[in-house]
Amino acid sequence: MSISDPIENGLKGGWLHIDASTLQVSRHFEADVVIVGTGAGGGVAADILTQAGLKVIMIEAGALKSSKDFDMEERTAYPNLYQQAASMKTADKGISIFQGRTVGGATTINWTTSIRTPEPTLDFWAKEKSVVGLDTQSLAPWFDTMEQQLNISTWLYEPNRNNGALLEGCNKLGWQSTVIKRNVKGCWNTGYCGMGCPVNAKQSMLVTTIPSALDAGAQLISRAKVMQIEHSEGKVTGLKAQVVNTNFEPRGTTLTFSAKHYILSAGAIHTPALLMRSNTPDPFELLGRTFLHPSLLSGGIYDEQIKGHSGAPQSIYSDEFVWRDGASGDLGYKLEVAPVHPVLVASKTLGYGQSHAELMKNFNRMQVVIALIRDGFNEQCPGGQVRLTDSGFALDYPLTDGFWQGAKRAFLSMAELQFAAGAKQVRPMTEGLPQLNSWAEAKAEIETADLGLLRTVVASAHVMGGCPMGEDRLISMVNSEGSSHYLENLSVMDGSVFPTSLGANPQLSIYALVARNASLLAQRLKPVVG
Ligand SMILES: Cc1cc2nc3c(=O)[nH]c(=O)nc-3n(C[C@H](O)[C@H](O)[C@H](O)COP(=O)(O)OP(=O)(O)OC[C@H]3O[C@@H](n4cnc5c(N)ncnc54)[C@H](O)[C@@H]3O)c2cc1C
Repeated sequence: MSISDPIENGLKGGWLHIDASTLQVSRHFEADVVIVGTGAGGGVAADILTQAGLKVIMIEAGALKSSKDFDMEERTAYPNLYQQAASMKTADKGISIFQGRTVGGATTINWTTSIRTPEPTLDFWAKEKSVVGLDTQSLAPWFDTMEQQLNISTWLYEPNRNNGALLEGCNKLGWQSTVIKRNVKGCWNTGYCGMGCPVNAKQSMLVTTIPSALDAGAQLISRAKVMQIEHSEGKVTGLKAQVVNTNFEPRGTTLTFSAKHYILSAGAIHTPALLMRSNTPDPFELLGRTFLHPSLLSGGIYDEQIKGHSGAPQSIYSDEFVWRDGASGDLGYKLEVAPVHPVLVASKTLGYGQSHAELMKNFNRMQVVIALIRDGFNEQCPGGQVRLTDSGFALDYPLTDGFWQGAKRAFLSMAELQFAAGAKQVRPMTEGLPQLNSWAEAKAEIETADLGLLRTVVASAHVMGGCPMGEDRLISMVNSEGSSHYLENLSVMDGSVFPTSLGANPQLSIYALVARNASLLAQRLKPVVG
């Protein structure tokens, strides 16, 4: 079956796209609205503002790729499509972080799990974080709109065995479980979502909102990294971007942009880092407080073939433990599974030499459960802090005693679940624990385990926060519509505005919130530009 390539077709049809790496001389661009970043936030904002009749330019540090470039190989996907070739870490190397760097941002490479913002999170924001107008009821129409646009619906097919074991364990133990909704249309169930969808089934920004905006006349400039926001007297006056080459190294050519309005959608970490680098006002030093859902991993070895690389990566989750002690209570964690691909597994598991070879020998019989810890709700796990360095930025993320206590509970839950689902051995991804052969053994060993920094594997694919929203300037940088408290023609529309983590996978929350805020902004800007 031939695969239609909307990017190739659009470019042939005359889309306004410049691959900045090909530019020999510096240039200036003007628009009504300039958007930095083309991920979940930037894609939705660009589409809505363009459809409203505004001249929009999208600037993206990553490259424009299409399905013909997605070869299902980790060795090409990570350097081409991920920040720091998928090897980004916190400053102390304690947490591995995955983030996208490509047109479509992380939506091009994510695992398609689509979950509405949990009600306890929205309630917490309203009560503790001065967020207004974002309750479940008022957000519902925006969720409905985005679910329709991105074909988000419950995955009706049998889960792969990796997810199936999660379901089986939950059923045996009487734990809550949910079949996941996914943003796919005509999915081939390959299981390679993390390397870019080779058949354009994933309804990421790359094949939905960005083509829609480009069809309507928006312009895309890829391989251009915005370095500076110029501002004076409470207004943004321009942006400066550095052209990068195909290896994402600066080429020395500069692009400048001016617009009536500017939107930052560079994602958590990069939006706050850009604001910090540009010395924009931050009187209460709020920029950069980042949340990661720091996640623990547990490997189960089964007699049967699991083949966790094949089939929809995530189709079942369990919320049994997320809100057990209330939003501000003891750390809760969501249970999901992670796709099992060789480089991902080799770099996020334990040991070296013989012991690592043993682990990898069981690759196809390995099932991997992850526990995503809900951070930012209390001092047990308050989040991290972005800081600028000579070469860019670093993220400090202290893992507290409270976190390690939560991690221990999470390892216990994962081991119990995996044995209930038929695992023969369980290997919590932490040094110092033996291979565990029964739930009784696991319970005793994990309870006394010495978890800690660099001994225990901690990873994250959910980067949030850094530019919090709310009405109280003492605790927020933008208001509940995403407008800057300090620069009148600046908005932030991405996952950086979350004042805590979500306790759920972030993409759908960003889509809905940005759909709402970009629509409100379009109403404000339209009369001005006529
Ligand atoms: C491997 C992986 C799997 C995931 N799976 C899921 C999932 O199943 N479900 C889910 O809900 N979420 C998932 N996520 C997370 C989700 O995709 C992100 O939370 C979401 O895409 C974030 O949207 P954003 O707009 O904040 O930023 P991003 O989507 O990260 O987009 C930001 C964009 O800005 C660009 N940029 C950054 N700095 C600059 C600059 N200075 N100049 C120009 N451009 C810049 C970046 O290159 C990037 O393309 C996953 C993420 C990863 C990495």
